[in-house]
Amino acid sequence: MTQVGVYKLKCGWCGSEVEAALYHSVNVTLDPELKGKLFKQELNIAACERCGKLNRYEIPLLYHDMGERLMVYYFPEEHEEVEELGKEKLREKVMNMMKAMAGEGYTLDVAIGWEEFKKAVAMRGH
Ligand SMILES: [Zn+2]
Repeated sequence: MTQVGVYKLKCGWCGSEVEAALYHSVNVTLDPELKGKLFKQELNIAACERCGKLNRYEIPLLYHDMGERLMVYYFPEEHEEVEELGKEKLREKVMNMMKAMAGEGYTLDVAIGWEEFKKAVAMRGH
């Protein structure tokens, strides 16, 4: 299921409050239009009403393709959990979490950083 939350965040340019709709989870089977947006990096950005600049809010995101039976959990490289646990421990933790929720026969992957994410989906997603 696609999950989106609305948050009041800070503009990185002028410090004003920005209301941003951020995706935590994208189901590209149910919401195929989000796939293009995701890969054009048009998700999880919000314009500041005061200064008009765009802010990118990098948060972990679960990519789910029901047709390909693929789930990839994306973490931004600079995410606090990457720093706290280290990449290998984080991968292990997230993998276990995904195993608990994925159906039979799913391919699961954890991608840390955008390049890794693109590769993980490209290998499978066509
Ligand atoms: Zn601003």
